[in-house]
Order: sequence, then structure tokens, then C-alpha cells
Amino acid sequence: MLITHDTECALSILVDLLNTAPEVCGTERLPDVAALNAFVVRQEISEIDSLTEEDLHQVQALRTRLREVFGTEATEDAAELVNAVVAAAGTTPRLVNHDHHGWHIHYFAPHAAIGDHLAAELGMALAFIFMAGERERLRRCEAPDCARVFVDLSRNRSRRYCDSRTCGNRLHVAAYRARQRSAEAVPSA
Ligand SMILES: [Zn+2]
Ligand SMILES: [Zn+2]
Repeated sequence: MLITHDTECALSILVDLLNTAPEVCGTERLPDVAALNAFVVRQEISEIDSLTEEDLHQVQALRTRLREVFGTEATEDAAELVNAVVAAAGTTPRLVNHDHHGWHIHYFAPHAAIGDHLAAELGMALAFIFMAGERERLRRCEAPDCARVFVDLSRNRSRRYCDSRTCGNRLHVAAYRARQRSAEAVPSA
């Protein structure tokens, strides 16, 4: 599997961003600039200057577009969405070495607005996933009452639920019951 560490990091930012949407938890989890700032700090997003209302609206709009990538059936259509996101971001790939991360590539233009920054980085991470033929790892949680997305990085691509407390727990309970069943199925000697 050709998924680099940088791509994995970008995908975890992507998942975090998509799961802040109001259709996921019933409330907008990026309701104001302060929440967006907390997101930037939590995800250690670099080169972000002070944030504005305009930034917030751009990030919310980007979130909607990126979510469509997870909900689009045909890869051709999903690829078109990714291309449109990246094209609008005005990417300028450059090698950088900051905060002891080692040399890596920033796709966003220096000190780009956060909407363009995230569109470039998250769009490119999605492009790499498509290129690696791993699009099926982009999943929506199968729990009927859950709208979260996740990226299945398990070796056998068997993850069905997100890692929220309820769904993760549901998964553990299901695994426990399965173990119990198979233990009961062993004929006693
Ligand atoms: Zn960096
Ligand atoms: Zn879930």
C-alpha cells in the first residue's frame, strides 16, 4: 500500500473536519471562529494566520464538497470532485522542513487562507488514495444511526464502524458475542 505518513496525517485531519458537520452530530461543531481556531490547534495545522468569519464559511463550504467525495459512487465522478477542490485551491508544492517533521511537501501556497490550505492538502491526500487504488478505504460508518466517516487503515480493510464511543463500543460488543458463539460452538470432549 502506497500511503505515506503525510497522507495519513492529512486524512486524519479530513476525517476530523468532516465529522464536525451538523448532519453528523445534530449540531454544528465548527459554529464560530473560536471553534475553527481550536480545530487548527488540535490538528497542529501550520502557517495559519489569524482567522476570520470568511475563513469559517470557506471551511464549512469545503467540508460539504469533501463529504461528497465519500458519498459518490463512481470513481470518475469522485475524481472530478477532488480535481475541482484542488484546482480551486491554487496549489504550489514546495519542500519544507519545520517543527522536526523532516522534509515534506506543502501543497498549499505560503500563508494561504485556511480554506485554500485545507483544500490543497486534503484534496491531494485524497488524490494519493485514489492513485494508490485504495479508494474503498474511505468509508462511512455502517451503524444505522451514525453519519461519521472514517479511513480504514486496517490491513484487511475490514473496519465497518467509526471509532466514536458508541460505534467503537458496538464493535467491541459484536466481537465479544462472536467470540462467545465460537467458544460455545466448540464441542465438549
Ligand atoms: Zn508541514
Ligand atoms: Zn459510527
